[in-house]
Amino acid sequence: MKKAIIIGAGLAGSEAALQLAKRGIEIDLYEMRPQKQTGAHKTDKFAEFVCSNSLGSYNTTNASGLLKHEMEKLGSELIPIIFETQVPAGGALAIDRELFSEKVTEKINNNKNINVIREELTQIPQDIPVIIASGPLTSEALSNNIKIFLGEEYLHFFDAIAPIVEKESINFEKAFYLNRYNKGDADYINCPMNKEEYEKFYNILINAPKIELKSFEKNAKFFESCLPIEVLASRGTDTLRYGPLKPVGLVDERTGLENYAVVQLRQDNKSASLYNLVGFQTNLKWGSQKELIHSIPGLENANIIRYGVMHRNTFINSPKVLNPTLQSRKNSDIFFAGQITGTEGYTESIASGLLAGINMYKYLNGEKLLALPQETVLGALTHYISFEGHTSFQPINSNWGILAEMEMDKKTRKNKKLKNELLAKRSLETIKEIASNLI
Ligand SMILES: Cc1cc2nc3c(=O)[nH]c(=O)nc-3n(C[C@H](O)[C@H](O)[C@H](O)COP(=O)(O)OP(=O)(O)OC[C@H]3O[C@@H](n4cnc5c(N)ncnc54)[C@H](O)[C@@H]3O)c2cc1C
Repeated sequence: MKKAIIIGAGLAGSEAALQLAKRGIEIDLYEMRPQKQTGAHKTDKFAEFVCSNSLGSYNTTNASGLLKHEMEKLGSELIPIIFETQVPAGGALAIDRELFSEKVTEKINNNKNINVIREELTQIPQDIPVIIASGPLTSEALSNNIKIFLGEEYLHFFDAIAPIVEKESINFEKAFYLNRYNKGDADYINCPMNKEEYEKFYNILINAPKIELKSFEKNAKFFESCLPIEVLASRGTDTLRYGPLKPVGLVDERTGLENYAVVQLRQDNKSASLYNLVGFQTNLKWGSQKELIHSIPGLENANIIRYGVMHRNTFINSPKVLNPTLQSRKNSDIFFAGQITGTEGYTESIASGLLAGINMYKYLNGEKLLALPQETVLGALTHYISFEGHTSFQPINSNWGILAEMEMDKKTRKNKKLKNELLAKRSLETIKEIASNLI
C-alpha cells in the first residue's frame, strides 16, 4: 500500500488526509494538540475553527462562494460536513464549530487508512512523501526546520498587510498615475489631498478603534519600516506627510501643484486589477479601515478586496519555492497546504488541502500533477501564490481580481452581478470538465 505523511490535522491537513485515504493511500497524520497547543486553538479536535464560525458566502456571485462550489465539484470531504453542521447566518455559511470538529475527528479516527499520531513533528520527514499543513501557528521547532529546508529568507512569521482595492473602483477624476520625480513608467496611482482633506483623514485615523492583539502577538516586534499606519500617526500630525504620505515629487500635471499629502497605490497583481495602499499596514478594525479608505480622495467608492491585518502568521515565500500544484520546487516529495502556503481563510485552507491531497495521490502514482487553470478561483489562488513576479508577497484570500481576464463588453463589465455570473459560469464549466477526469 502506498503511504504518505501529513503534518497537522487542521483544516487543510484533515481534508488532504481524507482525500488520500479515500483513494486507498495509507496516511500517518501527525497532530501535536493536545500535548502542545498553538495559542489560538482551544480543543484537541481536528479541523478546529479558531476564530469566527463563518465561512463567508456560498453564493456563486461571490468569489469565496464560488470557491466552495468548485470544491464540491472536486469532491471535498469537509464541505458535506459543513452543511451537516450549518447554523443560520443570513447570507453567510456558518457552522456549529464544535459539532463540525467533532464530526471531522470521528470521520478521521474511524478511517482505517489514517493512522493518527498525537505528536509534534519537529523535522520534515525524509524519504517519504509529506504534506506540510501545520498552519499559521506552526510549532517553533518545525518552523526552524522548514527554514533550514527552504532557506532563512523564505519563511515569514508575521503578516503586516496593507489593504488592497480594485482598480476599477478608483475615481480617476481625482487620482492620477505618476512615479515620484517622474522616474520610469507611471506605475503608481496617486490620491492627492489638500490640507482640509488630510486633517479629516488624520482625525479618523487617530480616533479609530484597533483590533485587540492575542497574548502571543503582543510581544511581536514590528520592523521600523513596517510600522502600522496608526502607530506612525500617533507620533505627530505631520509624521505621515514625511513618511508614506509624502507629497514631494508628485506634481499633478492637471493642476501643476504638489499637494499637501498623497496616498500612493502600488500594483498588486500581474493583470493590474488590484492595487495596495503603500505603507498602510494596519491593525484598525475593518469598519474603521473602510471609513478611512473611503475618506481618501479618489477612493470614495473603492471596492476593498482585502483589509489590512497584523498578526502572527507563519507562511512560506511560495512565489520562490512552490509550484501551483502545491509541490515544493526543491524536493518533489514535499507538498505544502493550508494557510502556510500564503492563502488566507478557512475556505481557502480546506481548498488547498483538497488540491494537495489530489496531487499527492497523483504523485504517488506517477501521474501528471494537476495545476488548476486561472479561470477557476482555486486555480487563480494557486497561481497567485506561486507567481514569481511579486515585488513583495503577502497572503491573499479569494477575490475576483486574480482570475484570468474574460472578454466582455464594457456594459457587462460595469454590471458587477452580471460580470461575476459570467466568471462563475466559466469557472464551474472548467472545474466540471476537470473533475470528470479525476479518480
Ligand atoms: C488567530 C487566528 C484567527 C483566525 N481567524 C479566521 C477567521 O475568523 N476566518 C477565517 O476565514 N480565517 C481565519 N484565520 C486564518 C485561517 O483560516 C485559519 O488559521 C485556518 O485554521 C488555517 O488552516 P490550516 O489548515 O492551514 O491550519 P490549522 O487549522 O491551524 O491547522 C494546523 C494544525 O497543525 C498542527 N501543528 C502545528 N505544528 C505542528 C507540528 N510541528 N507537529 C504536528 N502538528 C502541528 C496545529 O496544532 C493545527 O492543528 C485565523 C487565523 C488565526 C491564526
